[in-house]
Amino acid sequence: MRLSEGKIREIISVVRRACLDAGVDYDTLTSGVVPLFEIMGAFPLRVAELPDRKPLTAQSAIKFLGHETGQELPTPSNGDRPLSGFIYVFEYEGFLNGCILTDANDPVTRRRFSAAHELAHYLLHFLPYLEELRREGMSEALILTEGVTFENGGEAGGEPAAEMTAIQGVDSFQRLTLKTTPAMEREANRFAAELLMPAHACEAKAQQYVKRFGTGRKVVARKLATDFFVSSEAMKWRLKELGLYTAQD
Ligand SMILES: [Zn+2]
Repeated sequence: MRLSEGKIREIISVVRRACLDAGVDYDTLTSGVVPLFEIMGAFPLRVAELPDRKPLTAQSAIKFLGHETGQELPTPSNGDRPLSGFIYVFEYEGFLNGCILTDANDPVTRRRFSAAHELAHYLLHFLPYLEELRREGMSEALILTEGVTFENGGEAGGEPAAEMTAIQGVDSFQRLTLKTTPAMEREANRFAAELLMPAHACEAKAQQYVKRFGTGRKVVARKLATDFFVSSEAMKWRLKELGLYTAQD
């Protein structure tokens, strides 16, 4: 199932607003590495990895964060699956604080994509959910988590590995229903792609390469992947998504 045109427009507008919040003009981003961590800096989220290159799982993430925050936290289901990214957001008295963890053993390109994917959940799913709860008058402390793995199909095929959970009341650990749907995963991946590989910048740069090297999608994708600091897989997928250079070579 593809995302609707309306949903894609909505995602792009959230990307644009996130950039604006960080003082980055999305529309004038040209080819090159998108300043992801500068953009993240506009939100109460820090990006970290586990010490000693410890593999990332929901279990190891929760243990690390519990140690850091001094809180005893429940482990989400499926807690021992290897993850590429994990987000933890804690809301208390209207203030948000969060941490995005990426796996130190992943290539940097994937870690950037994982971090962007988790930022997407924060902006597209967590914030609206909190807003909804606030409207309903809920004021108890809340913890939100989500984890992703890219085992199948690289960054394009991200699937929820540690389900999205909301835990209400830090002492009582009441789990709220907050189901990660495949659509939410596609939205998060699309957000990451729009943020790290802006369509206008990809198109402009691709045109230059096609003039110089011909239309081989693999060659163009590899060149663009280097420029934008993403994996070749992610760029190949992006070019297909944009309907650019879909030749089978
Ligand atoms: Zn996800």
